[in-house]
Amino acid sequence: MAVEGRVFVLEEPKQALVERARTFEDPPAGFALLEVLACGVCHTDLGFADGDVAPKQALPLVLGHEIVGRVLASDDAALIGRRVLAPAVSPCGECAACARGRATACPKGRMPGNDADGGFASHCYVPSRDLLALDAEPNQDGVLGEAKLEAWQLAPLADAGTTAWQAIVRAGLAKGDLAVFVGTGGVGGFGAQLARSVGATVVALDVDAARLETLAPFVDHVIDVKDREARDVRKQLRGYAKEHGLAEAPVRVFETSGHPAGQELAFTLLSRGGSLSVVGFTPAKVKLRFSNIMALDADLHGNWGCDPALYPGVVDRALSGEVALTPFLERRPLDEVNDVLDALRNHSLSRRAVLIP
Ligand SMILES: [Zn+2]
Ligand SMILES: [Zn+2]
Repeated sequence: MAVEGRVFVLEEPKQALVERARTFEDPPAGFALLEVLACGVCHTDLGFADGDVAPKQALPLVLGHEIVGRVLASDDAALIGRRVLAPAVSPCGECAACARGRATACPKGRMPGNDADGGFASHCYVPSRDLLALDAEPNQDGVLGEAKLEAWQLAPLADAGTTAWQAIVRAGLAKGDLAVFVGTGGVGGFGAQLARSVGATVVALDVDAARLETLAPFVDHVIDVKDREARDVRKQLRGYAKEHGLAEAPVRVFETSGHPAGQELAFTLLSRGGSLSVVGFTPAKVKLRFSNIMALDADLHGNWGCDPALYPGVVDRALSGEVALTPFLERRPLDEVNDVLDALRNHSLSRRAVLIP
């Protein structure tokens, strides 16, 4: 089988992606050929496009790692014709890290749009093994779950939703804890809702009032931290905890802004016996009094993507409606990919964009 398709290629950093025709042959062993139904746009794509971060595969490269697709060909016959969610990072399953259950620390993890061509395309190849089938039967095309989601809406769960979930699981967040999200763009917004689904009280912080307004109905409390001193925010947060009988609760902070000021704020919010999970990425450095971790007997975590074994926990919560996707997403034609990247660059996107080929 050979399929005629098209891809949007990053040929040079800081240049617009270029549309190219491409023929997709049968996938190699262990891989599936997907017809891309949707691909979310992530800050990581922008980092690659702008040359701030070098992708593992040398350019030219097709970006995009939040992929929902239909399986056209695979050596796993059960997958053919099904709509699937492809994990942003597929661990190798064979190395020492994978063997000890730390799939996210796998040095050979494969990320579409970084290690190989990704989903800003009509078609792409992904490993068959970790694909999560969204349909019980092949060739379905209706809405999904009790929440009646369209398939494109699940694309951001390939990375933004699941990376936050991995952080929540790693932090051991539990009922009765206080979870604080610093930054409520994609990862933080989904993370805040996921944290609430395990029974934690969730406070979301951002510098963007509009984003907080969208998220407010889905969390316990929001704080606009624009132009605020970190210590002042900490005082307010402690006040909130005390008022709500959470003065003694473990405070689990999730840094999901990927911004130096957000990282400094998140660090300042660390409390005794609490934890800080670093989920957002920035190449910038910050100056911190690192000994606070020791003085506060605090835990520090970081994670790169999410173990594919944890994906069903996120997808099920979205399909049941426990985690809302619709208010946080907007669909855009794939042809507008360069406009979408521009909007992300200018911070003029208020919702997470999902490209439709
Ligand atoms: Zn991403
Ligand atoms: Zn591995």
